[in-house]
Amino acid sequence: MGLLHFELLLTPSGWRRDVSLTIEGGRIAALLPGRASGAESHRIGLPGLPNLHSHAFQRGMSGFSEIRGPGADSFWSWRDTMYRFALAMTPDDVEAIAAQAYVEMLETGFTRVGEFHYLHHGVDGRPYADRAEMAARIAAAAAATGIGLTLLPVFYARSGFDGAPARPEQRRFASSLDLYADLVAGSARIVEELDGATFGVAPHSLRAVSPDELRAVAGMAGGRPVHIHVAEQVREVEESVARRSARPVEWLLGHAAVDARWCLVHATHMTVAETDAVARSGAVAGLCPITEANLGDGIFDAPRFLAAGGRFGVGTDSNVSIDAAGEVRQLEYSQRLALRARNVLAAPGGSTGAALHAGALAGGSAALGEAVFGVEVGAPADLVSLDADHPAVIGHGPETLLDTWVFGPSVGLVDCVWTRGAKRVDGGRHVSRGPLRARFAAAMARLSA
Ligand SMILES: [Zn+2]
Repeated sequence: MGLLHFELLLTPSGWRRDVSLTIEGGRIAALLPGRASGAESHRIGLPGLPNLHSHAFQRGMSGFSEIRGPGADSFWSWRDTMYRFALAMTPDDVEAIAAQAYVEMLETGFTRVGEFHYLHHGVDGRPYADRAEMAARIAAAAAATGIGLTLLPVFYARSGFDGAPARPEQRRFASSLDLYADLVAGSARIVEELDGATFGVAPHSLRAVSPDELRAVAGMAGGRPVHIHVAEQVREVEESVARRSARPVEWLLGHAAVDARWCLVHATHMTVAETDAVARSGAVAGLCPITEANLGDGIFDAPRFLAAGGRFGVGTDSNVSIDAAGEVRQLEYSQRLALRARNVLAAPGGSTGAALHAGALAGGSAALGEAVFGVEVGAPADLVSLDADHPAVIGHGPETLLDTWVFGPSVGLVDCVWTRGAKRVDGGRHVSRGPLRARFAAAMARLSA
């Protein structure tokens, strides 16, 4: 049994002083007033954030797609760079790069990741002997770092809305429905053997999946999460309108039973009617603000969505820069720039940092299949402590602590991180940072040779 004490701890009813937690089987078993005897004590504690959307292998191309091409660069030219990179990676590379990405997630305060995993097959496009080989490498990276894993094997079959088969450069992603069923079964076996892991299904996008295939893949979910990229790009909206006489989100809501199990990743380009309908469906909007800014996707209509009662979470997507506070900061800053306003996502009188943290915690947990979350009996003991001597918190009381974490000079503010009650980050550094970085360096040396 684990025992932790915090002088100040963020609970669903706000900050509480002088609280101990008992932890059994990786979950919070009880909250007790005062410092329980034998408890390890920290000053400021809060729940870690879920990262609901990651493509771990893309961490390896961070910083390699920022040189301007001959014309205007876009999402689509970025995607060509990503394909070249994806075609070069071995299973060892994927495991090493994913572990580095997960170290960085944990060090900034993410405690669970939704891995939207689509790099399935060998370099020649043929399945590995163990069809779920690459998924097993993702799980190995999660095991080595301790991050909670929601494994989302991706179904990918088409190169566009016209239903044409996947192109040669997409061969490592593409599967038949039969092959995909094997990948889902393999993922189920993999998460069974990994503490704190679960899985869902992920039709890649409306352009990569035919209507019949979407129905089949969603049907494999049972009660588990269903994640899909949707309405990220204007061109995708135009193609959907041309081919299906409906905008992507409009089409999806009309042809799939979208409900609280679903996570609509990006959902950037929606009409007001679509925004309201997604909120009503109970689906979580999977926002990836840093990647969306990096790729020039556009800005999600968060005020309208929240006013309609919508749920959101955040994801690091391309992993170009991994930062839990940075994702929610970018979410708010995009709104401020678009609307020329401040404190857009807080309720009147409320802290913006607290609203962003609470929203991303609730929506991200739901999207990743975790029904009980935060500092609550039965929730996983996924916790972060902040360095109370850090300049960013000096002068701040509980009411503005999350604002200084999100908006302040908070580099190095995260002190310790626990997942399922085990300490993974100590003094701001992951406990296996050195060896995992060495393995990452070796993979990057191979890939850039
Ligand atoms: Zn994505």
